[in-house]
Amino acid sequence: MNIEEKNGIKYLTFDLLKDKDVKYGFSTRIGGVSSGVYESMNLGFSRGDSDENVKENFRRMAEVLDMNYERMCLSKQTHTTNVRIIKEEDAGNGIVRPLPYDDVDGLITNVSDLPLVTFFADCIPLVMFDPKKRVIAAAHSGWRGTVGKIGKVTIDKMVENFGCDPKDILCCVGPGICRDCYEVSGDVAEEVKKAFGKELAEQYLLRPSVFHPRDREKYMLDLWKACEVVFLEAGISKENIEVTDYCTRCNPTLFYSHRIMGANRGNLASFISL
Ligand SMILES: [Zn+2]
Repeated sequence: MNIEEKNGIKYLTFDLLKDKDVKYGFSTRIGGVSSGVYESMNLGFSRGDSDENVKENFRRMAEVLDMNYERMCLSKQTHTTNVRIIKEEDAGNGIVRPLPYDDVDGLITNVSDLPLVTFFADCIPLVMFDPKKRVIAAAHSGWRGTVGKIGKVTIDKMVENFGCDPKDILCCVGPGICRDCYEVSGDVAEEVKKAFGKELAEQYLLRPSVFHPRDREKYMLDLWKACEVVFLEAGISKENIEVTDYCTRCNPTLFYSHRIMGANRGNLASFISL
């Protein structure tokens, strides 16, 4: 991943999508107008910040990423694996009109100039692009979404609805909490083993807690790796997956982190548009 800077706004890009015919970017907390715990590029409307500030932040991101602010379509994330096909009439959802849906953690579209927006602050943002069929997608993958394999749910829907071939799809696993920061309980570890198989989970995804090494009910979970495994299971080629090296919890000056800041924070967003 690379940090780009334009108009005082910092955002992240992937080598995998370099020079590809798609607009996209992952926000940081740098370059917005919000203050206090929201300083400064808060993109969450429901966090207690003023709507005017958040809208101005969206306008700034739209300008930097060369996207249409009024046509942005937002997710309504509740840790589900619900993925919605976004059509022309969805342009502006959550920006110029209230969201007409609830419980939508993934978005797919083939409509041009219709930016898809998902949110994160430790959870993992996934973005997908099929350059052949001209289809984009974005999804929110926290531990629940990851054991529910929302990345694969999204890819399967791209195949079903738009005739995409997984071999053509480029997949980015965006900035989120890293394996050295993400401690989970034994219950979560069990869900991970159930979803991925005990052997794979224990070999690649889980290890004893570094924060509570004597507590056998605490584990470190590698969500980045888990998201990559999900994409591989969906038939994506390994060379078409790029995984971030930016942890939201390791870099509190660059990102908001739920684990560090709790509810008193802003939200980061991923943007992608044809
Ligand atoms: Zn970290």
